Amino acid sequence: MILGLWIHPWDLIEYGIEETFALAESLGINHLSLPVRYIEERQAYPGTSIIYRNNKNRTYLSIRGGVYWRPEPKYYEDIPEKYRPHLTSDKDIVKQFRETATSYSVKPVYWLPVLRWDKLAGDYPELAVKDLYDHVAGYKAQFLCPSNPIVRKLVLGVIEELCTRYEAEEIELDYIRYPEPVTYSVSPLHMLAQMPCHCGYCRKKYYEKGIDLELLEEKLKELVELAVEAEDKTGSVCGKNVPECWETVASMGWYLLGVRTPEVYKWLKARAEIIAELVAEIKEKTKSYGVELSADMTPPSFSWIVGQDYELFSPNLDRVKVMVYTEPFRRYPEKIPLDLYLAKKLGCGVQLVAGISLWPPSTPQTIERDVELSRPYVDGFYGYCFGWAPFKNLETFTVKARR
Ligand SMILES: [Zn+2]
Repeated sequence: MILGLWIHPWDLIEYGIEETFALAESLGINHLSLPVRYIEERQAYPGTSIIYRNNKNRTYLSIRGGVYWRPEPKYYEDIPEKYRPHLTSDKDIVKQFRETATSYSVKPVYWLPVLRWDKLAGDYPELAVKDLYDHVAGYKAQFLCPSNPIVRKLVLGVIEELCTRYEAEEIELDYIRYPEPVTYSVSPLHMLAQMPCHCGYCRKKYYEKGIDLELLEEKLKELVELAVEAEDKTGSVCGKNVPECWETVASMGWYLLGVRTPEVYKWLKARAEIIAELVAEIKEKTKSYGVELSADMTPPSFSWIVGQDYELFSPNLDRVKVMVYTEPFRRYPEKIPLDLYLAKKLGCGVQLVAGISLWPPSTPQTIERDVELSRPYVDGFYGYCFGWAPFKNLETFTVKARR
């Protein structure tokens, strides 16, 4: 059974690499995922903002565009210098991680945030996903567009380098998706109209897939104008804060769109296909080096919004990690069985791993509950994460998962 943990580079170094592997092994952990680069994020947020497994720093704001391996220019020769990755640490942490792993029965996994690259997308908006009005979609979390040829070359260069110079065993694709909608306080139809991507490269792909671009964009803009008009008159928004109102608009909207505007459905499918094409290209690369490929995915009930289609992704993956986080995001645990059942059904037999939230306000009791709700559907468990979890939570997770 897969029993894994996510760990951040600063915690690995400051807790001690040998000490981390020794602790992980003693807890029965057999997969350890380390980001080879990382996103800007408060450690640990949402939650207590305390790092429990770090001997030097109890808080940390991870830097924008942190790169933890030492990239060699030859892998990025066909993309302009300004877009290439550069080591941002004083150590090649990925190399140390890989070398240390050989002394332990713990598999080193290279965790790669693929399209969320806040610094690059922020500094060079020409690489970023765009909304319906050709503005960068997303706010603090900024994403690269999977259709952009430079982005594809960059991603494949990173994969190639990790497979060859860093002898990857498994590469884990995180943020292999579009950003979440910027806001949930709008009506679901308005939210749909704000979803990316409408950059020139994506529009070309939609056109090639037979989508009537003019009709699509006209219909999406109509949704926005509908919201503006209704809300202008009353100041009342049918947002997520009023669940019944939100659900009603959503169900009515899906019906109306399905019956009257199938172009929108074609567009939702095309978005997912574009991301799936990138997964397939990455698989071609990893396959040639015998490297396993996994992906971190949002639960199926939500994944269509961010362009992740389990049926399209799964044929090119060795395993899928489904984030079924509850307490820190105030999500209902009752949804776990449905989401994992769907993931299993749509995942075409690929290995399924439940990603469990271990950090406060998660408690040993909620962790045990989430593990038990997941168990019937999965081949293993992953805990988020080493640094953020009080020891009792970490211990409960590993004991209950192994039972
Ligand atoms: Zn695009």
